[in-house]
Amino acid sequence: MLFHSTRGVDKDKTFADILMQGLASDGGLFMPDTWPQVEIEKIESMQSFQEIAEYIVPFFTASSFSEQETHKVLKDAWHDFEIESLIKIKPFNNYSILELFHGPTAAFKDFGLQLAAAFFNEILNQENKTALVLGATSGDTGSAAIDSCKKYSRIKSFIMLPNGNMSQIQRRQMTTVMSENVRAIRVNGTFDDCQDLVKQAFKVRDFLNNDQYLLAVNSINWTRIVGQICYYFYAYANLRDHKSISFSVPTGNFGNVFACYSAYKMGLPLKSICVAVNENDILHRFFSNNDYSKHAVLETISPSMDISVASNFERLVYDFFLDRDSNACANLFNSFPSNAIKFDSTIWEKRHEIFLSHKVTDKETKEIISSHFFETNYLLDPHTAIGIPACIENLDSSNHYVLLATAHPAKFPKLYEELNIDMVDVPSSLMNLRDKEENVYRLNANYDELSNFIKINNFN
Ligand SMILES: *Cc1c(COP(=O)(O)O)cnc(C)c1O
Repeated sequence: MLFHSTRGVDKDKTFADILMQGLASDGGLFMPDTWPQVEIEKIESMQSFQEIAEYIVPFFTASSFSEQETHKVLKDAWHDFEIESLIKIKPFNNYSILELFHGPTAAFKDFGLQLAAAFFNEILNQENKTALVLGATSGDTGSAAIDSCKKYSRIKSFIMLPNGNMSQIQRRQMTTVMSENVRAIRVNGTFDDCQDLVKQAFKVRDFLNNDQYLLAVNSINWTRIVGQICYYFYAYANLRDHKSISFSVPTGNFGNVFACYSAYKMGLPLKSICVAVNENDILHRFFSNNDYSKHAVLETISPSMDISVASNFERLVYDFFLDRDSNACANLFNSFPSNAIKFDSTIWEKRHEIFLSHKVTDKETKEIISSHFFETNYLLDPHTAIGIPACIENLDSSNHYVLLATAHPAKFPKLYEELNIDMVDVPSSLMNLRDKEENVYRLNANYDELSNFIKINNFN
């Protein structure tokens, strides 16, 4: 199976092509040419995440790797998790919480980025090349990218952190990694400044050595989605005693929701997907009001969901709303954000097939965390809490909600101090971060400074 761009120009790309390329040359996002169909009885007989991944991932990698080669990569793809099953499921009354934060950086992003890094490394080994990873982060992507790539000596990671809202722990997860092939760069600017630098770097590429790859680790990378598709099937396999299942997904860039939608298109039986957002509500404005328009970013207590536009949303528009009409998709997104996206009512109606949405304010998030803790003694992180309303407002007793717990609460200690809740059970990967020395390089939001810095720190 090959891949193509949502905007129609790039076509017939292999898995290796799109893994190494990231964004399509026409500005679109890569999509599989068809949705592979799973045999759901097979999934039902599987218990472990690894087993499910060995079934799901080869559908997408077949254009570049034999099944055997893929299985070899998958063997060590996910590592340094605190529990052998990788995921825990906590049952509550008529919902369950899928804990995706047992990886080394204590957020779900380890699932996608560890898989991408393992395949980066496989291709670099085969071609005897090196690569630079360049990314900007406002939350958990940077730490997961750094951690996923640091053990591969053919990859150097340069991750830019803006001034701003991430928690001290999130920052220290990046700045305390002492590896020769990792650079955490504090940029004197906003997240948007950092993203502009990344965009320019991908255009100019003047700091690369001959034949060197420049890799994107942001959430549009298809392989990250593949890693995430697997845990939706895992949840199903472990909760299939329920008559019907829905997912509530706290989201920012729509990557995690798109993975859920992908699983649905591949044959996962599910009733609905709730798109749960904080006050950065572009997705909720779309699903509730047919208004996809860019507003300024607000800083919230769920910083990993603070976005102005949801980059993976283009994939849904292309596949679901426009029935894969790449011309129509290119027209919409080439003129976005200057022109807001608003569909004809018949197209917009399609959302009822599967989607709901919820917006939760900071004040509500705090109330949810406190009351959930009071009632169940279970502590939600501020991102996960945003998915709770869909679960508790679910009045259909035959339908079981699965809430994705996207980060461990211990990443946000200040918030729980404010709420007078004691933090117990800090994951070992987050302990002692406070005592470690920070190793951070400071640059202005200036392309030449960045380019020079990378040149000096590149392989030689
Ligand atoms: C990245 C992140 C999200 C948002 O995920 P998307 O795939 O961008 O929707 C939610 N919660 C946490 C903790 C995250 O790190």
